[in-house]
Amino acid sequence: SLSAREKEWEQINHRLQEADRAKTEFVSLTTHQLRTPLSAIKWTFHMILNGELGPITGDQKHFLQKGYDSAERVITVINEWLNLDYIEAHKDEYKFIPVNISELVDGVVFEFNSVLEQKKIDLTVNHPKSNLPLIELDPIKMSMVIENLIDNALKYTLEGGGKVTIDIIDDQVATSEKLIELVVSDNGIGIPTSEQAKIFNRFFRSSNAIKLVPRGTGLGLSIVKDVVEKHGGKVWFESLESLGTKFHVTIPIKQNKV
Ligand code: ATP
Ligand code: MG
Repeated sequence: SLSAREKEWEQINHRLQEADRAKTEFVSLTTHQLRTPLSAIKWTFHMILNGELGPITGDQKHFLQKGYDSAERVITVINEWLNLDYIEAHKDEYKFIPVNISELVDGVVFEFNSVLEQKKIDLTVNHPKSNLPLIELDPIKMSMVIENLIDNALKYTLEGGGKVTIDIIDDQVATSEKLIELVVSDNGIGIPTSEQAKIFNRFFRSSNAIKLVPRGTGLGLSIVKDVVEKHGGKVWFESLESLGTKFHVTIPIKQNKV
């Protein structure tokens, strides 16, 4: 029989192979299945926006522009991922600018409209009542955070009767904490208590998630954590299996320049 040490090595090796496989699959999936159709979407929007398919109204132009911008942003993100391993390569490449976080959230939510319709999930965004100050953040990176959290909330929620809520909470904007909080809640499959400790690990996926959605890299939340922490913020969650999950993100409203 195997010694404890051999078993340990076997496990490590298995995990490395698993990681390598997931990563390769992720990269090839992204390249072949996302980049090409996204470019097609972008250029379709471009053509219509340019009036190449006939005249359009101002209203139509407004929505088409949103579609074009979304497609372009996704392409940028995919290109970033493909250039090199995102997390390692982009450690120091953060461009913090003052951003209206309500608009940022709405922009990302807009991208999920067709999924919401398909899965018959009700998504609500609760904006703060008072005017928010602009938050210093990297909008592309922070969009990835919001996108991953919404993607998970939708993916791990059953069709029909699903409810996802995004709260933008400004309670601590004016306190000494000076931070903004985003909460993404769902009434989905939840995360089993015994697996909660591993949820931010790269490539980790819980057993119930794999069962519901067999394909997935388990990279989303590690990216979320990385980006949030590079903003000096925190991310955590509460979850009950079969009942739902609530992810919290806090971001300081200003970046400390040393
Ligand atoms: P990918 O994001 O690459 O498609 P993934 O969704 O499995 O794959 P993560 O986003 O990193 O990867 O999430 C890791 C795991 O955390 C998921 O597999 C799932 O087990 C659990 N999880 C995350 N969000 C939720 C949620 N809202 N409800 C239930 N489980 C969740
Ligand atoms: Mg995910």
